[in-house]
Amino acid sequence: MKHKLKMAAREFYARLLFHTGLHALVNAVMPRRLTILAGHCVSPSPSSEHLPTEMKIDVAKLESILAWFGRRYEICPIGPGVEKLKSGGGKSLVALSMDDGYRDNYQVMLPMLQRLGVGATVFLESRPLDERKVNWSHKFFWILTKASIVEFIHRYGELCEDERAYHVANQYVTEGREDPVYQFKRILKYETDPHDRDRVIDLIFAEHGGVERELADLLYVTWDEARAMQSGGIELGGHTVSHAILSKLEPAEAEREIREGRESLKRGLGRDIPTFAYPWGRRWDFNEAAEAAVTRSGFKTASTMHAGVNRPDTTPTRLHRLAIDENAQLHLLVAEACGGFALAAKFGLKLSE
Ligand SMILES: [Zn+2]
Repeated sequence: MKHKLKMAAREFYARLLFHTGLHALVNAVMPRRLTILAGHCVSPSPSSEHLPTEMKIDVAKLESILAWFGRRYEICPIGPGVEKLKSGGGKSLVALSMDDGYRDNYQVMLPMLQRLGVGATVFLESRPLDERKVNWSHKFFWILTKASIVEFIHRYGELCEDERAYHVANQYVTEGREDPVYQFKRILKYETDPHDRDRVIDLIFAEHGGVERELADLLYVTWDEARAMQSGGIELGGHTVSHAILSKLEPAEAEREIREGRESLKRGLGRDIPTFAYPWGRRWDFNEAAEAAVTRSGFKTASTMHAGVNRPDTTPTRLHRLAIDENAQLHLLVAEACGGFALAAKFGLKLSE
């Protein structure tokens, strides 16, 4: 109930700011800030077709969001955005970032950005580029185009050694809980032994005729496309080698993921890579050891998936971002970006996500 009330107040307040034009006044009186939007795929595109809604945003919708901000804020990639924020003066800033390096970022988003004349940041996993391999989550989504989630879970149970995950998942399905795909993905991500999970998913992927290289080619940009994005004004950033959950790795292994990802991008793109985003990006997906390794590896900034805007004193290795997808709502993004939620917080009203 309390949560529902908060959501209603948040919605009302954001609409009030947006439709009355008050957002402009708030933007003018609140201290300067950098708002970073965070998405994955741009649709319509072959790469995003079988991916869940929370991983994609329609290109026309994204264009209208950026065009709106472009008329009132300065749009730039994250690296320059953080620098400009620190140097003071000027408009507040908005950066668009897209994670993982999906092919539609090159095919669909780049031409749109060029129409608007703005840049963005794309975070690249290096293994799809170097080896044309994809992480387990993409094989999982692909299998679900061939089999139902219930079929998948049964097969997973037959093949896995880690029975506990199977039982938990099966419970979700038999009890008819909401969104079994999301729930089972969460279990695969956090509650299974990663080696066993990867082995089992590889088996099921092969049983359905999956070919890893073809899936990588469908989903991920090539080096040539990455370089074309770079020369088209997109800042490219590190996102580890294989999109591992850094907090679940031994510190040395986490550091290797971070550092080798950066070295690969430096080799492939021929320039320094100062910007990083933690894979998955939630507080529990990285830790202090990973954060220190990010700095030691030479990155200047690191983005999380924690909602909020950034100020000059925001820790540069813990930048906040606002997730955008098919369900993104401009008035809520504006309420954050104009400093509206920060203003409400000054009066004790916590309306931010
Ligand atoms: Zn990612």
